[in-house]
Amino acid sequence: MAYDPNNIFAKILRGEVPSKKVHEDEHTLAFHDINPLTPSHILVIPKGPYVSFDDFSEKASDAEIAAFTRAIGKVARDHGLAGDGYRILANIGENAHQEVPHLHVHIFGGKRLGRMLPKE
Ligand code: 5GP
Repeated sequence: MAYDPNNIFAKILRGEVPSKKVHEDEHTLAFHDINPLTPSHILVIPKGPYVSFDDFSEKASDAEIAAFTRAIGKVARDHGLAGDGYRILANIGENAHQEVPHLHVHIFGGKRLGRMLPKE
């Protein structure tokens, strides 16, 4: 899928749409999800134009990949989630119901999260 520069996270990155930022570095931005599903629900995104994890892992530089990985762990630590635990999740494509076509990892925490996926 080609990257759509008008997706909502691209607008957040350009400062055209506000966000509640919790972390920013050269390659990565993290902010609160607008519609939190858990007491802590934070999104971590690379600043580069990547739609999916497969896209990112193929095209991003080592510095971008390192920054993204480190940011996810830092946000979890900074929000006190490392002790009791948390979940990281990235929805990719249609089967996973990805709504925003800019790679993002959800960090869920602050309550018991149950098992990984509901059984069908
Ligand atoms: P997806 O289903 O693509 O994995 O999740 C997209 C997430 O982006 C959803 O949890 C949704 O609440 C969040 N989201 C959508 N629009 C905005 C926005 O404008 N600001 C913020 N902070 N989050 C958004």
